[in-house]
Amino acid sequence: MKIVIIGSGLAGLSAGYRLCKSNEVIVFERDPDIGGMAASYCLEHSGKKYFIERYYHHIFRSDSELLTLIKELGLEKKMLWLEAKNAYFVDGKNYPMSTPFEILHFKPLSTLDLVKLGLLVFRIRLIKDTTPYDRIKAKDWILDTAGKSVYENFFAPLMKSKFGDNADSVSAAWLIGRVKIRSDRGKEGEKLGYMRGGFNSLVEALAGEITVNGGEIRTGREVTEIVIKDNAVQGVVTGGEFIACDAVISTVEPVVLDAITGGKLGTLHETLRDIRYQGTACALIGLDVRLMKNGNYWLNIKADVPFGAVIEHTNYVPFEDYGEHLVYVTSYFQNEKSTLWTQKEEDVIESYMKGLERMFPEFSRSRVRWTKLYRRIDTAPVYEKGYLEKVLPFAAGPYGLYLAGMFSSTNYPERSMNGSVKAGFESAELLMKEKEIKSK
Ligand SMILES: Cc1cc2nc3c(=O)[nH]c(=O)nc-3n(C[C@H](O)[C@H](O)[C@H](O)COP(=O)(O)OP(=O)(O)OC[C@H]3O[C@@H](n4cnc5c(N)ncnc54)[C@H](O)[C@@H]3O)c2cc1C
Repeated sequence: MKIVIIGSGLAGLSAGYRLCKSNEVIVFERDPDIGGMAASYCLEHSGKKYFIERYYHHIFRSDSELLTLIKELGLEKKMLWLEAKNAYFVDGKNYPMSTPFEILHFKPLSTLDLVKLGLLVFRIRLIKDTTPYDRIKAKDWILDTAGKSVYENFFAPLMKSKFGDNADSVSAAWLIGRVKIRSDRGKEGEKLGYMRGGFNSLVEALAGEITVNGGEIRTGREVTEIVIKDNAVQGVVTGGEFIACDAVISTVEPVVLDAITGGKLGTLHETLRDIRYQGTACALIGLDVRLMKNGNYWLNIKADVPFGAVIEHTNYVPFEDYGEHLVYVTSYFQNEKSTLWTQKEEDVIESYMKGLERMFPEFSRSRVRWTKLYRRIDTAPVYEKGYLEKVLPFAAGPYGLYLAGMFSSTNYPERSMNGSVKAGFESAELLMKEKEIKSK
């Protein structure tokens, strides 16, 4: 059976990996590189090449499908579980937030508010099923359970930096999922997973498996149409060429899927148009000195700067692996009207530099070796109240059309590499099952 996969992110590559041994697989990728949001830069320092993700990435111990895949590909020895120091920058001061003890001594909250916060986290950890919370706004739920001060002084800036103007409409299910995963830490703090050499090794290993089994990955090839006739997939159009196939797995943003199927997905059409995505403008800065001398990896921010977090990668993964200090400065943005999307690259970098100067008086541009900016408009669905009804099925309706990606059930209430790997596997398994049924 000939299968076309649209998109070479982790969902597409995982589906291709599952299918390539018994099928003819072709992956079409619009970008010049593979990996989608998990793609990396290949940089060089002192004549030594290294890979570093364009968007900061790490994994959690609960990412079971991803960890199993890493093992299956023989990459387990690359896994590192490293301490990651977190802090919250509030009104010019840094508050360490790595251990439960530190969180419970967060000065901007009163003792009573800290008790309320502690009880809220405890309550969240007892929640097994987030479904009932999908219909409640996170803001309302926090106000009801922990009060105004906990909301305004703790959660609101974090939610604002993640969802901007959409923060007020985000579901409590998303918040609960997020707090659950981030509060899963021992007395000594949080250990996060990373692959030595970066997640590029995973992307390359998956791509290698596809090609070694006779599959193809064609980059710089945007699919402009999925051809559907008599309610069955016939093939795709890319670069003006029709490629016939028996099945398609699409991993692209819902609104793009709607466009390339000509709005023909019946009942899904409205939902595809209704799912909102947001973008991320993420700068990576190479420095010859540490930015956060206190060793922070992740700094959340409540301050008047145009970004929501500063992430010092080399305060987490050994500096020796790179030979230079690597810092991400990042912000989500809500739509194509945002200046983070419309401004020239150098202007976004300039605004981030000014923000760093305001936050870190000892920061000097003379220590900056290089900067890079990666911007995409389709980096995460906005998990608004009621989002569960919009989660897309793995089978899209027409025979032979399957869907896997950030919009899948495996990625709700929080999208992740694990969720996309799982979505890729589930779509591939469904496809094989339906093929078997048809051939009987
Ligand atoms: C800033 C940021 C930080 C993150 N941090 C983490 C983290 O720490 N841990 C974690 O687990 N996850 C993290 N994620 C999420 C993770 O990167 C994603 O969930 C996952 O990589 C998504 O994979 P995907 O295959 O579903 O989608 P994508 O990676 O978006 O892949 C879709 C692919 O389809 C291609 N495409 C689109 N349209 C077409 C077309 N018409 N024709 C051909 N190709 C097309 C795109 O170019 C893209 O390559 C982060 C994401 C961001 C943005």
